[in-house]
Amino acid sequence: MMCPVCRVPAALRGGYCEYCQAPLRDEGGRLEVQYPAIQPGPVLVSLDLRSECPPGWSTRVKNMDGGTSFMPDPRGIAVKVAPRTSLPFVQDGVRARDLVCRSAAITFAPVAYVAIAARREAVGAAETQYTFDIDPSKRAARLIRRYATSKVAGVNELIPWTEHAAILGIGELNHFEIRVQGPAIEGWVNGQPCLRIYDPVYGIGYTAVMCCNPTDAPQSFVVCGFEVRTVAA
Ligand SMILES: [Zn+2]
Repeated sequence: MMCPVCRVPAALRGGYCEYCQAPLRDEGGRLEVQYPAIQPGPVLVSLDLRSECPPGWSTRVKNMDGGTSFMPDPRGIAVKVAPRTSLPFVQDGVRARDLVCRSAAITFAPVAYVAIAARREAVGAAETQYTFDIDPSKRAARLIRRYATSKVAGVNELIPWTEHAAILGIGELNHFEIRVQGPAIEGWVNGQPCLRIYDPVYGIGYTAVMCCNPTDAPQSFVVCGFEVRTVAA
């Protein structure tokens, strides 16, 4: 039987694919993926960006190259991102395979979107990661594998932009999270499961919030919080 996740002719071992570890069920000679919800466990990192600095910052104000700047805002950290830039800016020292990473943010322009990343890892000269992208102007989200080098950036859309009623619009605060456990990748918005897929490609890494500006003008974002949890056993 072929595993529907990794496409390897695989055997079922205790309810899991012996190759990629996806949870499977034998449906009369055909393997079907099971979807147990990923449950958040204890808190590893918790930042209230309305009052705290991101890790590695000495103040709540910072200026960076390329026209990117950060200012304190009563709602969090206000980020102005240069045109055609995707900026990871709240990163932590938690390198793990399985975790839940949450943030909350506001966008102010069409097409500008925020992302929450897991399994960010340097692989040679490249950096790879999964991100759950949320575009409030489209009230849509997607799950992607992203890789970048100093010269090139690429995206594999695991689930392309999909509208979801839980996503609030421009100017409103959206809480969003990525949950990763083994090959299972889930995106949640405002407490509701939004997108879910199995992908066995990237295995371990760090987390981050990213502010993504694909437009030709500088765009503002406000990021309010950041939290990393383990996955409950
Ligand atoms: Zn498999």
